[in-house]
Amino acid sequence: RLMDSGAEGPDEEVIEAALRPKRLDDFVGQERVREQLGLVLHSALRRSRTPDHVLLSGGPGLGKTTLAMIIAAELGQPLRVSSGPAIERAGDLAAILSTLAEGEVLFLDEIHRMARPAEEMLYMAMEDFRVDVVVGKGPGATAIPLDIAPFTLVGATTRAGMLPGPLRDRFGFVAHMDFYGPEELEVIVRRSARLLDVEITDEGAAEVAGRSRGTPRIANRLLRRVRDFAEVRADGVVTADLARAALELYEVDERGLDRLDRAVLRSLLGTFGGGPVGLSTLAVSVGEEPETVEVVAEPFLVRQGLLARTPRGRIATPAAWAHLGLTPPPPPGD
Ligand code: ADP
Repeated sequence: RLMDSGAEGPDEEVIEAALRPKRLDDFVGQERVREQLGLVLHSALRRSRTPDHVLLSGGPGLGKTTLAMIIAAELGQPLRVSSGPAIERAGDLAAILSTLAEGEVLFLDEIHRMARPAEEMLYMAMEDFRVDVVVGKGPGATAIPLDIAPFTLVGATTRAGMLPGPLRDRFGFVAHMDFYGPEELEVIVRRSARLLDVEITDEGAAEVAGRSRGTPRIANRLLRRVRDFAEVRADGVVTADLARAALELYEVDERGLDRLDRAVLRSLLGTFGGGPVGLSTLAVSVGEEPETVEVVAEPFLVRQGLLARTPRGRIATPAAWAHLGLTPPPPPGD
């Protein structure tokens, strides 16, 4: 279920690929990240050196993979893609590293989920472009040093806090990707509509953008749902009214809360009286993994001022009660 905010299937992957901006200049929003990254890349190009390793942290669908592809494109280098969960043993990583071409960009998604021995191999590779491959077992095991071509690592993580310090410290550039503002999402929706040949009014684009949870992937996904609706129920043009009707049908409310967001809030308010309640208890009550609630639902609810994290657990804000149309219990002592 973690994939809830990831690509949903082969079709979606194809469309996502088609909608990905290819160059830094086409990447919408994240001004500061874009500017800083532009400097890192262009100064490396000027000195004909491989740039520092780059860590991208931020929630699902905010553009980490897209930026990794852009980094390779801007450098004019090929991109190798793998992910933390795919690297189960140090040998898996050695196999990738030893076949990198000089200057190649290696994208490791979900880098916080890499196995420990591989992580240790990666430290050395990042710093010295060298790994020790251990051959044999027990007392007879020997480490064979292996040089690898200088490369640029682009790591992505939805949970920067889970990354061990020594790994984080080896990235020369760390970018934190935040939720997008409504105007930025509008630009993204209009751009995607153009690429998908969808006719949309400015108000229609604003309506889709406003319900996208600050997330480009969701903006693109909602645009397609709205387009389907427009084709079947109307003349194909996406107006604000039509977008509203379509998104209500798909249970996306006017603040962009989806089913999971509302389930979390409803449980926090109903079952736990507004909290405080621990993350895992809350996750169990909505039938989700704690990581899904923490990575997918919670940051947006916090950003919306509907939920707060306290040392004693998660609590609902007064706005949360109002949003679900419920009355908060009287404060204790009244
Ligand atoms: P992540 O790797 O962080 O989960 P992706 O890079 O896969 O996110 O982005 C998901 C989708 O959102 C892609 O289809 C991409 O086209 C779109 N997208 C992400 N960031 C931007 C952006 N800044 N401008 C335009 N489209 C974006």
